[in-house]
Amino acid sequence: MKYVIFLADGMADLPLSELDDHTPLEAANHPALDRLARNGVFGLARTVPDGMPAGSDTANLSVFGYDPTVCYSGRSPLEAVSMGIDLKPTDVTYRCNLVTLSDAENIEDAVMMDYSAGEIDSHSARELIEWVQQELECEGVRLYPGVSYRNCLLIPNGELGGEQTPPHDLSLKPVRGKLPKGANSDVLRRISKWSYSQLKNHPINRWRAKYNKPLANCLWFWGEGVRPDMETYSRKFGIQKGAVISAVDLIQGIGKCAGLDVIKVDGATGNYTTDFAAKGRAAIDAFKNGAEFVYIHIEAPDECGHHGQVTEKVWSIEQIDEKIVAPVLEYLDTAGETYAALAMPDHPTPICIRTHSPEPVPFALYFSDGRCAPSGAESYSEKNAAQTGVFEPCAHRLMEKMTKKI
Ligand SMILES: [Zn+2]
Repeated sequence: MKYVIFLADGMADLPLSELDDHTPLEAANHPALDRLARNGVFGLARTVPDGMPAGSDTANLSVFGYDPTVCYSGRSPLEAVSMGIDLKPTDVTYRCNLVTLSDAENIEDAVMMDYSAGEIDSHSARELIEWVQQELECEGVRLYPGVSYRNCLLIPNGELGGEQTPPHDLSLKPVRGKLPKGANSDVLRRISKWSYSQLKNHPINRWRAKYNKPLANCLWFWGEGVRPDMETYSRKFGIQKGAVISAVDLIQGIGKCAGLDVIKVDGATGNYTTDFAAKGRAAIDAFKNGAEFVYIHIEAPDECGHHGQVTEKVWSIEQIDEKIVAPVLEYLDTAGETYAALAMPDHPTPICIRTHSPEPVPFALYFSDGRCAPSGAESYSEKNAAQTGVFEPCAHRLMEKMTKKI
């Protein structure tokens, strides 16, 4: 038995006037997703438990099969694990975004112009992060460069219970009152303020200014956490060999904590310029190399949602369908082994609000052995999923259903 999950981050959306009151999913052409919806169990699932933040961390944990209300201990430790950081139980970690703030005398008067500093390249990001680390000499506090604007800060023997605001929730809004509060906030605020006063003068930012690129002029901390306590896939689901394919640290970290192999794909960027076909091929290769389970995560629709890119979001969904879902299903169909396939987003990233929402998302769960009656749905969309009346209030149960031996 083989298992595949197609996770299209932030794919679910709301109707848009630019698309004649259709959602990007409704506007896109995606025959492979439609096939899964029509021939599988099709409905809505709640990936973000009530009262929890609508992040890719909680939502992806659910889809991986872990109950976020039990396992979730913050986003940043999952990313830290993926970066190869050996976390001690007493380490407290934060996501450290390189962001673009508007120019102001005082950081409190600035506006969050871009939570990703123009999706700064990893090389420049590393140089800036290492420079801040050197300049600060904050004893014991350690900055780690990651992928693009996504970096990590570790505080050994830190306290827990601070309050931070994700920068993507502040897009084009003033940051006044949104700097960290509570535990460890003194050091976090000090670094943010210092970086805002100094980073603009770094040669990399001088170069970015010259070429009209958004400045990476502040370090913004959020996503506090400690190492999660997660059972591995082999213990939890009896899956001995599995893999995760994602350009995003967080998803790779969940995979590592679950005991899965992380497959890095050349050309996987984490946005709509990603090499979709390379991800599809990597999944097929993983199956050929003996993987029983592959989790293919594609970040592109989420980034398009955050940036308000309607056409790009529709296009991304079509690319996922054509270059990933279709070829992987075709391979599994011809490989002659029974398989189960689950296709869903983690959460909606509606273009009209440019951030995540906690609403339930459509899911299609297909078994090649026909053990479940086909839904008969016409196509894979938010509306059609709601109309089937199938509702899974705890999305982590989907993985249990998928792997249940019958
Ligand atoms: Zn997002």
